[in-house]
Amino acid sequence: IKPGASSLIIFGASGDLTFRKLIPSIYTLFKKNLLPNEFFLLGIARSKFTDEEYRQEIKNRLLQENEDSYIISRFVEKVFYTSGFYDDDTLYLELKNKLNYLDKLFNTQENHLFYLSTPPNVYLEIIKRLGKFNLTKESENSYSRIIIEKPFGSNFNTSKELDEELHKYLNETQIYRIDHYLGKETVQNIMMLRFANIVFEPIWNYKYIDNVQITVAETLGVEHRAGYFEQAGLLRDMFQNHMMQLLTLVAMEPPASLEDTSVRDEKTKLLKTIRPFEKDKIDEYFVRGQYIDGMINGKEVSAYTEEKNVNPNSFVETFVAAKFLIDNWRWSGVPFYLRAGKRLKRKVTEIVIIFKDVPHSIFAKNDITLEKNALILNIQPDEGFSLKIQAKQPGSKLCLNTLTMDFNYDEFFKFKGPDAYERLLLDAMLGDQTLFVRSDAMEISWKIFTPVLEKWEEEKHNGLRLYKAGTWGPKESFELLAKDNRSWRNLDFESEDLYA
Ligand code: NAP
Repeated sequence: IKPGASSLIIFGASGDLTFRKLIPSIYTLFKKNLLPNEFFLLGIARSKFTDEEYRQEIKNRLLQENEDSYIISRFVEKVFYTSGFYDDDTLYLELKNKLNYLDKLFNTQENHLFYLSTPPNVYLEIIKRLGKFNLTKESENSYSRIIIEKPFGSNFNTSKELDEELHKYLNETQIYRIDHYLGKETVQNIMMLRFANIVFEPIWNYKYIDNVQITVAETLGVEHRAGYFEQAGLLRDMFQNHMMQLLTLVAMEPPASLEDTSVRDEKTKLLKTIRPFEKDKIDEYFVRGQYIDGMINGKEVSAYTEEKNVNPNSFVETFVAAKFLIDNWRWSGVPFYLRAGKRLKRKVTEIVIIFKDVPHSIFAKNDITLEKNALILNIQPDEGFSLKIQAKQPGSKLCLNTLTMDFNYDEFFKFKGPDAYERLLLDAMLGDQTLFVRSDAMEISWKIFTPVLEKWEEEKHNGLRLYKAGTWGPKESFELLAKDNRSWRNLDFESEDLYA
């Protein structure tokens, strides 16, 4: 659906996220004719550019991606730029005048979508001043919405403070906390798979599911974002937001409808049932690691502490494995094992639902061990899902083998769905908050992780497990599951074993 008249105003318009993700997404929407006809983009940052210089910068970036120069030149006609300091009232006066002018020029009906793509320590500065200059006010015919990038605070208290400040100027319906994982096609498909098919729901519970595993593995290190990562660490960067979103989509109850309130209510309900971590028992549930040098895809890579802009004595975690328990009827006794890390062996994001053994194996007498059935939701890179079942192998009377029924998105649909940022930007213009994180969910999620963060801060290097880059993380991650007589799914696909 094409949204009605809208503008997009990006703070931090000279930054990495803007040029790498936001501009290409907006451009693609324009190219696909999905942007409103009445639209303009206004970039704001401290760096000095004229409108023309900023357009040229965008042109250069898009041309590097082999985009069509004619479409680019039509696109940049809608692009403008203002420079200034976020704590300076004159920027907002100028912004107000410019919006007045551009709204008339493009007939955008004073519909303003602000995108905060600055470092998080300036978010409040910007919002306070948008409030002061009446730019957060909505009318019956016009909206003012704000998209906020992660990190949204750094613990329970700071996120609550930020939220309280935001709510002084904005209603919750105006706040779009972005978690780009929610914009991914395969993440959205979790709901379709669960709630548009009758076959899964009856077995989606403690009676039939043995455990759930979620892995988000990257081969990359911290790249150019060491400054941010040194402050954040992996738990804040991945678990508190993306991994919790994946977990809630797998575990929540069916919402009454697809409406944003309905879906977000169910997510919040689920988050409330996650068993809290007591500070003195955190080691039983969490493993944190940091990579040392190793080999990735045949290339030597250095240790985390040797990366540019990383403290050589850093105890920041680059890997986390954890066990979650959900205290409700559906999930009683079913562990959810989550792991995420940098510089791991392969880039993969997947959710694995591992089912229980059959109640009585008629094959046991013949010394045949049955592999558990597993449903694998591949989030990236090969988007799709597969079901592992046991079947007879042709030949000898009693030979069973694991069969994989595979569905690959790209192969089947033959076209790529919208990129996560394209999807989320469109939704924000449409006023659909389903794929954005609500205040209460954010708060509960921080509540879950704050004792863990506090403990690690106190313990520093104590308890930090080192792992070689190019492996699947520290051995303690495997021990976490071995204690429960379980194993991670084997992600060394060249091996035939289902479990590591
Ligand atoms: P960035 O490049 O470090 O910063 C964005 C812009 O903010 C810079 O171009 C800079 O523009 C301005 N800026 C930098 N330091 C500032 C300061 N101390 N005070 C005021 N302005 C400052 O950040 P980014 O990587 O684009 O990320 C933007 C936001 O998105 C951050 O909150 C980040 O955590 C979040 N995020 C980024 C990514 C990513 O892949 N990059 C992914 C997820 C979330 P001027 O100097 O021209 O003002």
